[in-house]
Amino acid sequence: MGSNEMVVVPEIKHTKLFINGEFVDAASGKTFETRDPRTGDVLAHIAEADKADVDLAVNAAREAFEHGKWPRMSGYERGRAMHKLADLMEQHTEELAALDGADAGKLLLLGKIIDIPAAVQMLRYYAGAADKIHGDSLRVSGKYQGYTLKEPIGVVGIIIPWNFPSLMFFLKISPALAAGCTVVVKPAEQTPLSALYYAHLAKLAGIPDGVINVVPGFGPTAGAAIASHMDVDSVAFTGSGEVGRLIMEASARSNLKTVSLELGGKSPLIIFDDADVDMAVELSRLAIFFNKGEVCVAGSRVYVQEGIYDEFVKKAVVAAQNWKVGDPFDVATNMGPQVDKEQFERVLRYIEHGKSEGATLLTGGKRAGDKGYYIEPTIFADVKEDMKIAQDEIFGPVMSLMKFKTVDEAIEKANCTKYGLAAGIITKNLDIANKVSRSVRAGTVWVNCYFAFDPEAPFGGYKMSGFGRDQGMMAMDKYMQVKSVITAVPDSPW
Ligand code: ADP
Repeated sequence: MGSNEMVVVPEIKHTKLFINGEFVDAASGKTFETRDPRTGDVLAHIAEADKADVDLAVNAAREAFEHGKWPRMSGYERGRAMHKLADLMEQHTEELAALDGADAGKLLLLGKIIDIPAAVQMLRYYAGAADKIHGDSLRVSGKYQGYTLKEPIGVVGIIIPWNFPSLMFFLKISPALAAGCTVVVKPAEQTPLSALYYAHLAKLAGIPDGVINVVPGFGPTAGAAIASHMDVDSVAFTGSGEVGRLIMEASARSNLKTVSLELGGKSPLIIFDDADVDMAVELSRLAIFFNKGEVCVAGSRVYVQEGIYDEFVKKAVVAAQNWKVGDPFDVATNMGPQVDKEQFERVLRYIEHGKSEGATLLTGGKRAGDKGYYIEPTIFADVKEDMKIAQDEIFGPVMSLMKFKTVDEAIEKANCTKYGLAAGIITKNLDIANKVSRSVRAGTVWVNCYFAFDPEAPFGGYKMSGFGRDQGMMAMDKYMQVKSVITAVPDSPW
């Protein structure tokens, strides 16, 4: 554990709702606390949005969409404003990483070199896409011609989780903004700080009032108000399966707004006999312990072929024990605290399940230190497919290890959860890599790497990991309507 002396709390400048270009109190006057998971102490009191505030935010977004400049600017101009916001983010990287670090217990160092730069890259990718929106020309039969127009869908509601507050924010808003939409974003109640800072920067970047609105608050109130709003045209959600269902239901019961859901996973990492064991151990450690396992694509089920299993297990245990748990602001730390008390307790409950279900606890398995929400890197072996720790998304630093014999057995086991978000394969055998890549039912497959993200690569789930894709040009389609325009050509020569 790192020493508590490391705790440095960044200055928090923005704590109110951001509606129509202004920071405002909640209509109710209510606030909620956001806490520092390193200590459990209150970091800030944040204005708490509820239905009345969501109504105001949606009205502002609607007005900006129907009558404002944003959807009417050229894509080039929208892209320029987005690049300007990205420039400002780069100038404030340190501060933004510190906000996410204190709010979510994320490593400050990685915030500076991964989270914030990746959010900037996402924004710049879609800034470049804003003037590359093309329809098709259609050779319709008879004396007609046709073309398709891609139009922004309108007001987009965005509901995001707390594990990557900056990246999630830009993963969703960037393609929506590029398309010419206006947005109402509800960040997770655990991590509202950076989203409010981005609202401030967006204003400085010249993004018109009403285009980006940020309404921190709780799911059943502010989140539900967005999902069931009659004047929101689409909702993009990342979070749990249970809430994903509620969002679809809310859409069905209200205005049938389009919905896209990214709902987490239980991703397998499959390691074959020909793998370099040291490299496999390193990748598997990263796959589950990076960001304290609070990653929807965490490699939480590790399948190791029998020939290297024993060697892998020995080395994986040592690697886990060397993964340093401590203050995320200390550069020597590998893993900070879980985001809040609820998640901390939930992960510890899963560890108890693992023990009582008969899995073998190889290392870790309890709280680290006596303050804050730290948990030891934990590995279970002898995990069976029907155990809870092999099926449920734990969202914590808990690896489940299983042994397999054949390629087909690995494929079958890899596919045996309700999820299908990601998978990893470690082998030098091209035929195995290709067969498994095609056989695994998951939206992303990493071969001899893990967490290799890029804005170009569409990202989303199979099965109950959701539907719709973030990233890539495909993500633009979520935020656009397609209109077919057919014109009569009475004097067509053919
Ligand atoms: P997690 O388990 O990662 O916290 P949740 O699905 O609970 O995932 O939360 C993800 C996001 O969904 C958060 O912003 C949360 O406030 C929001 N949320 C929770 N409940 C609801 C709901 N009933 N309607 C809309 N949004 C919700």
